Amino acid sequence: MPTIDLNTLLRPHILTLTPYSSARDEYTGKEGIFLDANENALGSATAGPYNRYPDPYQALIKEKLAPIKGVRPGQIFLGNGSDEPIDLLIRATCRPGHDSVLIMPPTYGMYEVSATINDIRQIRVPLTPDFGLDVEAVLAAIEPDTKVIWICSPNNPSGNQLSADAIRQVLEAATHSLVVVDEAYIDFADAPSWTAQLDHYPNLVVLQTFSKAWGLAALRLGMCFASEELIAVLNKIKPPYNISAPTQTLALEALDHVADKDAMVREILAERAVLADALRELPIVQHVYPSDANFLLVRFDNAKAVFNYLIDKQVIVRDRSKVKWCDGCLRITVGTPAENAVLMSQLQQFQDVGRLTEDTGAVTH
Ligand SMILES: *Cc1c(COP(=O)(O)O)cnc(C)c1O
Repeated sequence: MPTIDLNTLLRPHILTLTPYSSARDEYTGKEGIFLDANENALGSATAGPYNRYPDPYQALIKEKLAPIKGVRPGQIFLGNGSDEPIDLLIRATCRPGHDSVLIMPPTYGMYEVSATINDIRQIRVPLTPDFGLDVEAVLAAIEPDTKVIWICSPNNPSGNQLSADAIRQVLEAATHSLVVVDEAYIDFADAPSWTAQLDHYPNLVVLQTFSKAWGLAALRLGMCFASEELIAVLNKIKPPYNISAPTQTLALEALDHVADKDAMVREILAERAVLADALRELPIVQHVYPSDANFLLVRFDNAKAVFNYLIDKQVIVRDRSKVKWCDGCLRITVGTPAENAVLMSQLQQFQDVGRLTEDTGAVTH
C-alpha cells in the first residue's frame, strides 16, 4: 500500500503550528452557564437563536453524513464552499517559490486562481482533445515538489468523467503529492465515488459539494474527504468557526431528505437527455458532448452570436469558447422543463432569423 509522509508534504511551519484554541475547543460540555466566549447572553438582534458560536467541527453533520458517504466522521472536513478546502490544501502544502500544483485544462477555474492567490506555480498538462486524462504526460510532468494534482471528474466544463484507470495510475505514481478528485457533479454520474478508495490511497483527497445536486449553493458548504491525518491538518489551519450555525442547521435538515435530492437528480437527468436530443436536432449545433453532469457543453456554428442573442432574450448561458479545446462552445446548465423549452424556442428563433436574412441577402449574425 502506498503511503504519504506528512513531514515532507506539509509546509514546515504548518507541521509545527499551534492552532488557535477557541472557547468551544477548551470546554466541550453542552450544559452550564457560558461566560467564556464573550457572546451576547441576552439573545440576538433577530428572532433567531444565533447568539452562540457554532460547533467548530460540525460533529452532528459529520455523524449523519459519514454513513451516507460510507466514510468515517474523522475523514470529513466541511468548508465554506469547496473553495475553502481548495485553498487550505494549497496553503497546507505549497511553499511559494518552491512547490507547484498540477492542473489539467480545460477545468474548474478555482484551482488556478487559488494557486495564484497563494503565489504557487502551476504546471499545466491539458486533457486530450476529447477531454481524457493524459496519463503519460501527467506522470512525466510531476516534479519532486509538486504538492497537489487537481483532477475534476466529472470535469467542468466538458461534463465527462475521467477514466478510473487513468486516475488510479496517477494515484499510484504520485505518492509524494496529494491527488485531489473533485466530484462536484458525482451525483449526476453513473459511477462510484472515489471516497470508497480513501483507505487504499493515503494521497487521495475527494471534494464534493452541497451546491449542485443538493440544491444548496446559497449555503456555501463544501465537503472534503481524506485520511484522518490530513483532515486533522485542515482542522488545524481553518478559521475556527468556518461553518455558520444556520448553515449547519440547514445541512442537517437536507441530510434527512436524501430521497428528495435523489428525486431531483433523476428529474435533472431525464431533462438532460431531452435537452441533449433537442439540441442535436438544431442545424446550428455542431456537437453536444456527452455529459455525466447537470450541464451540457455544446459546440455551435457561431457561438458568440448565439450567446449574445440569448443574453438579449434574458437566457444566460456560459461562454466557454475561449477555453482550451472548447472553441465555439457554450456551457448550458440543465434548467426546469419550462426554462429548457424557452431556451430551445429562442435557439430556434435565432436560427430562423439567420435563415430569413440569408434569403434576403441582409447581413446575418
Ligand atoms: C460548482 C463546482 C464546485 C462547487 O463549489 P462550491 O464552492 O462548493 O460551491 C466545485 N468544483 C467544481 C468543479 C464545480 O464545478
